[in-house]
Amino acid sequence: MDFENWGPQRWANHFNQMLNLVNPPGRYRFDVGKLAIETSRSLFPADPITQVSEEELDGFVGALIPAESRSRWGIVYGTGQSSGRRRFTLAHEFGHYLLHRRKYRNGIHSSEADIDGRTKFEVEREANEFASWLLMPLDDFREQVLPKDKPDFEVLGRCADRYEVSLVAAVLRWLRFTEIRALLVASVDGFVKWSWSSNPALVSGAVIRTSRGPVPLPPGSAAGQDYFTPEARAGIQHEAGVWFNERVRELTFRSEKYDTTYTLLHLGDAEPRRWFGDETHLEDTYERFMRNP
Ligand SMILES: [Zn+2]
Repeated sequence: MDFENWGPQRWANHFNQMLNLVNPPGRYRFDVGKLAIETSRSLFPADPITQVSEEELDGFVGALIPAESRSRWGIVYGTGQSSGRRRFTLAHEFGHYLLHRRKYRNGIHSSEADIDGRTKFEVEREANEFASWLLMPLDDFREQVLPKDKPDFEVLGRCADRYEVSLVAAVLRWLRFTEIRALLVASVDGFVKWSWSSNPALVSGAVIRTSRGPVPLPPGSAAGQDYFTPEARAGIQHEAGVWFNERVRELTFRSEKYDTTYTLLHLGDAEPRRWFGDETHLEDTYERFMRNP
């Protein structure tokens, strides 16, 4: 088979079909490192992955590293990652192996920003796309959360458990297929660090752009007032004017570990503004299609 032309989704679907067929216990919580070692050995006997190990990494969370002979590869993940983050890191590096090792013969190091939602680098986006498709297969995820559902952090947290990934990884995956208008906002010290809109939110103009610098949180929002209660996590209804010029349901919690506030915004079913003929938005949508996660 001509694996050279396989993209991230095709590779992920390949392994998912295999896993569905074998259907091991804990189908969605499979050992990513073992999968990488065993499948690379049979698919690419000339240069398989032979080692997966934990190491102190300075400034990186994962890496794909060749042996000197270039006939073997190793995946390294940084110490101190939760099991969910570790699985995503391993899947990300496995994605680099499948998609990029021929071009990057000296290997690839991945920073934290490369592996979460904010990267702009094509190879990192491809590795993330592979990882999220591999770990959270679309057909199964759409059965857990229907495309028109408005899930809270409990529902999305159950998905994160099901796939043994971080909550943020599960939310980002859901945002990529949902038919509702929603955004995830990550903020630090009162400023939005990055945000991700679902496609219906994007085409309706509900986006927070951070490319031109940090954006302060709205003063009337729960996140902006450091209001981290169970009520805020479950969802607070805001009138128009707090987040956007329309009513918004805000679900907010703070992750002490990552020193970050995560906010999920559910918007109403408003008709997209100027969907047709608005070239800016169409371009955004196209760009989004091309860049994936
Ligand atoms: Zn990477």
